[in-house]
Amino acid sequence: MQDYSSVIEFIRETFHTPEAFIPLHEPRFLGNEKKYLEECIDSTFVSSVGKFVDRFEEMVTEFTGTNKAVVCVNGTNALHLALQLSNVRPDDEVITQPLTFIATGNAISYCGASPVFVDVDRDTLGLSPQKLEEWLEENVDMRNGKAEVKNNEAQPYNKSTGRRIAACVPMHTFGHPCRIDKIVEVCNRYNIKVVEDAAESLGSYYKNQHTGTFADIGVLSFNGNKTITTGGGGMLLFKDKAMGEYAKHLTTQAKMPHKWEFRHDHIGYNYRMPNINAALGCAQMEQLPKFLKVKRELAKRYDRFFSSSSFNSVFVNEPSHSNSNYWLNAILLNNKEEREHFLEQTNEAGVMTRPVWELMNTLPMFRKCEKGDLSNAEWLADRLVNIPSSVIL
Ligand SMILES: *Cc1c(COP(=O)(O)O)cnc(C)c1O
Repeated sequence: MQDYSSVIEFIRETFHTPEAFIPLHEPRFLGNEKKYLEECIDSTFVSSVGKFVDRFEEMVTEFTGTNKAVVCVNGTNALHLALQLSNVRPDDEVITQPLTFIATGNAISYCGASPVFVDVDRDTLGLSPQKLEEWLEENVDMRNGKAEVKNNEAQPYNKSTGRRIAACVPMHTFGHPCRIDKIVEVCNRYNIKVVEDAAESLGSYYKNQHTGTFADIGVLSFNGNKTITTGGGGMLLFKDKAMGEYAKHLTTQAKMPHKWEFRHDHIGYNYRMPNINAALGCAQMEQLPKFLKVKRELAKRYDRFFSSSSFNSVFVNEPSHSNSNYWLNAILLNNKEEREHFLEQTNEAGVMTRPVWELMNTLPMFRKCEKGDLSNAEWLADRLVNIPSSVIL
């Protein structure tokens, strides 16, 4: 059995933590967090309205270069709303990758739609445009269908299930950008709406453009384990400002603006982020550039260590044409057996490591869903392990 004590030693040294437990990713509150929270509480505007909500949206708009940003209670409901706005309806199908966090599949299910799993690329860990194109070529018919689809253009239908393919949700795994430009191009050709799950990739760029801004709608998450946190939170990014404004209306119970009347013009949601969470978000956004710099240095240090060590493990570097936020660092072990040994030894020693998520297509609720050849995802699932990635103090 391979002995991983030198890895454990290296990680303990890197995090200046000789004995205590080292988590995978913990938040850092090093700036104005307490000040803004206090301001928020003093103002009494802790709930669904307040200046921090607007400021947080403005900060993210500016940082990502999107046209409109709308805060949500979390990333999962942001994904749900994004799919609703993309016209995903009951009995539709939505293409996504099997290698993703469960939220992607859950949001598709909330719309009454079923996921279709298409393989990832080994270098990006994200949806493969080539595999996507192959799957569509083989499995899809273009025809005129559902009346509720407003334009008269032909829609893609799955030949074997007869269901409409309404949308595609690629995901930027661990913050590493997938080939999103190519994915959008393929989907456009098939009249498929793209929702970019950029929950893990705030601060990641593909071809110098921020992830989450390639598709019509992108989604970010500010959960406690993400690069920055609002406790819980999410954000929708829109190309089309008007659609963003409509989304904002839907997240606030679709209430018509009026000083005293309660009038609602649509089935809406209570999905808006409270001002107290946004206060935390503003303070975290101020620190994001520093966090990204420190995370990049940590990734470089890991890369140097694993490329010079005697193990055959490979550090997962950012793919070409991209600049990754290195949200969660990952290594590839040689096989599943080595992976198990690595997980056992590190966790036993109080250094948290974790295998990648179980592939979505193997979970009981998605086992019967449509899928293509998933050989890359299967290969990665046996070998990928996340290693501690918090911003080092
Ligand atoms: C974190 C995450 C989400 C959203 O999660 P929330 O906890 O609801 O904010 C969605 N998709 C992926 C891939 C994620 O990692």
